[in-house]
Amino acid sequence: MEPARGAPQGSGGAEALLGELEARVQDVVRASSWWERHGVDCAILALSLLALPSGFLCLCSENVLVFVLGITVLGVCHYTLTVKGSHLATHGALTESKRWSRIWALFFVEVCTAFPAEYAKYGHVKMHHGHTNVLGLGDSSTWRLPFLNRYVYMFLAPLLIPIITPLVAVERLSKAELGTALRGLALVSLGLYSHYWLLLNVSGFRSPCSALACMLVTRSLLAHPYLHVNIFQHIGLPMFSRDKKPQRIHMMSLGVLNLPRLPVLDWAFGHSLISCHVEHHLFPRLSDNMCLKVKPVVSQFLHEKHLPYNEDTYLARLWLFLSRYEEFMVQTPPITELVGLQ
Ligand SMILES: [Zn+2]
Repeated sequence: MEPARGAPQGSGGAEALLGELEARVQDVVRASSWWERHGVDCAILALSLLALPSGFLCLCSENVLVFVLGITVLGVCHYTLTVKGSHLATHGALTESKRWSRIWALFFVEVCTAFPAEYAKYGHVKMHHGHTNVLGLGDSSTWRLPFLNRYVYMFLAPLLIPIITPLVAVERLSKAELGTALRGLALVSLGLYSHYWLLLNVSGFRSPCSALACMLVTRSLLAHPYLHVNIFQHIGLPMFSRDKKPQRIHMMSLGVLNLPRLPVLDWAFGHSLISCHVEHHLFPRLSDNMCLKVKPVVSQFLHEKHLPYNEDTYLARLWLFLSRYEEFMVQTPPITELVGLQ
């Protein structure tokens, strides 16, 4: 067991601290325009949809460079819609309307990502956000595949994500209510089939195999950083037990890590998954642009109160996971003793 860093506060003290931070962040949100709160992120998603026709048309070209450009455009747009779009839609961060939040979640998660929206919300919002780093609840253990060796896991397994995702979707939907299952199957099939149809009918692919291979390449273009970022942000940080869960502010300040800004990933995954993951865990309903805006307030507050604010670079985390893979990804992580933080 390793003791956690941070000033000891009882539950009352921790709640007061969180209340103080919430008030400061609320001031920033209230002073922000609609464009800052939702518009910037909606514009990025709209641009990604609008760029799709040019991507499909580039694939008609005989010129290798134009063809590679088409793959890149389609791959980046795919990740922007499926990771950034699905993530913000699942949190209801794209709009203040509940009805539209639900429509966007169905579109981004089921049609674009080929995954059931209800299950994404349960697994991500309820379990992972509600019980961050609590063993057996929100501890990122779904990302552990201990039977794979470190190089296979870190460099080959990501390529299978586009194949595994719809298979997991079918398995989850088989256990869902009939109506949800039928709707899910219809929307997942619509997304996959329209991608395939566009490659055959717009991009001019002549065989089903070449169209399927192209789908696999574009859908796994950023699969490596996607898998890496998901494990880098939480695994290897303090883990908590169900019966001694820390207060929310301690849970997030101890159990979440920010990476530096990385332009392609900022665009495709969103700030809330890259350089503002701590802010996102504390304020999950804020959009990516708002997470970036409140970041100085949150980091200054945590520093001021002598609470941890975890930051590390992508390469340092990659090296750490490769060198301590056994400890982080195979063995059950040790529970951190939280003196006075529960
Ligand atoms: Zn989230």
